[in-house]
Amino acid sequence: MRPFSYTQSPDVTTAVQEVSAQGAKFIAGGTNLLDLMKIDVMSPSHLVDITQLALNTIEETPDGGLRLGALAKNADTAYHELVQTRYPLLAHAILAGATAQLRNMATDGGNLLQRTRCYYFYDTHTPCNKREPGSGCSAIKGYNRDLAILGTSEHCIATHPSDMCVALAALEATVHVKSSQGERAIPFAEFHRLPGDTPHLDTNLHPTEIITAIELPAKGFAQHYAYLKLRDRASYAFALVSVAAALELEGDTVKEARIALGGVAHKPWRVPEAEALLQGKPASKENFRAVAEAYLAGAKGYGDNTFKIELAKRAIVRALEQAISMEGKS
Ligand SMILES: Cc1cc2nc3c(=O)[nH]c(=O)nc-3n(C[C@H](O)[C@H](O)[C@H](O)COP(=O)(O)OP(=O)(O)OC[C@H]3O[C@@H](n4cnc5c(N)ncnc54)[C@H](O)[C@@H]3O)c2cc1C
Ligand code: SF4
Repeated sequence: MRPFSYTQSPDVTTAVQEVSAQGAKFIAGGTNLLDLMKIDVMSPSHLVDITQLALNTIEETPDGGLRLGALAKNADTAYHELVQTRYPLLAHAILAGATAQLRNMATDGGNLLQRTRCYYFYDTHTPCNKREPGSGCSAIKGYNRDLAILGTSEHCIATHPSDMCVALAALEATVHVKSSQGERAIPFAEFHRLPGDTPHLDTNLHPTEIITAIELPAKGFAQHYAYLKLRDRASYAFALVSVAAALELEGDTVKEARIALGGVAHKPWRVPEAEALLQGKPASKENFRAVAEAYLAGAKGYGDNTFKIELAKRAIVRALEQAISMEGKS
């Protein structure tokens, strides 16, 4: 680890001023950033500790939604009564990730900004366009079992590893951010980026902006939802493929469907045109498979990860079936 300086900010105004300095970075729970600093993948010269900022509350919004402070812990969010009752999809997705100890430290803002788990990104002896722009991508012709099949580019096939973000994508959350220039709200679909020819950029957040909150709209799909996470080990592993499925039903007919995939792309993957195929249709296995085919229409395998194409299709069907039956839900 390289030497760095450290300050603890008393308020958001000071925090955004301090992070404007060259090489400065926020630190929240530290569960991702510190790991990356220890192996020299990230080497900020100054850490701005934001853990004392008053951004850890979870509050109802006037329009019936819920505002999650960026510093609310993943565990506190998942076990919050309003999240459990109104947004159980989000609670299940958070609890599918990491471990109890990590969720006690990790913050909601930090979860959105966690870096990819591509092995080569962590191995500073190998080329990686995300870690060192222009150096090449070791994964495309290397070992890529965990990596992306959708929205890839010739420069990077990394995936975004978060479980929480997959549910936030399906729920159409909004990310609130602030800098010394002012505030803005970013729709979740526009928060994370595809790699294109700038794979070193994970999100559309400016380095001098702080996430202050994540806002959930009123609609929580608490009646019919499922978060299905498929992985090599049953716990403490990142998703090979995950599916956040949310349905609004009228009898056996689908009124609205939301589906987001994790583990398959550089961002949580949604295809609204494919979701719309279910609208007004019977909630049947046949119709679910048609949606799954549409979701994976543009998928491309790179060898080790090609199996994920069929796996993702089957996972979509299974998650939608679970959302209908609400099997095993409390
Ligand atoms: C062993 C292990 C297993 C894991 N398994 C899973 C898993 O299965 N599923 C899953 O989803 N996650 C998993 N995680 C990841 C974990 O959820 C993240 O590390 C955590 O959510 C990051 O939050 P943090 O507060 O610790 O972020 P930090 O490490 O403090 O920060 C991460 C990044 O976010 C920036 N940042 C933090 N807060 C803000 C803010 N408010 N505004 C602007 N920038 C900010 C920091 O500058 C840094 O770049 C795992 C982590 C570990 C170590
Ligand atoms: S897939 Fe992306 S993160 Fe992985 S080696 Fe290639 S450029 Fe780096």
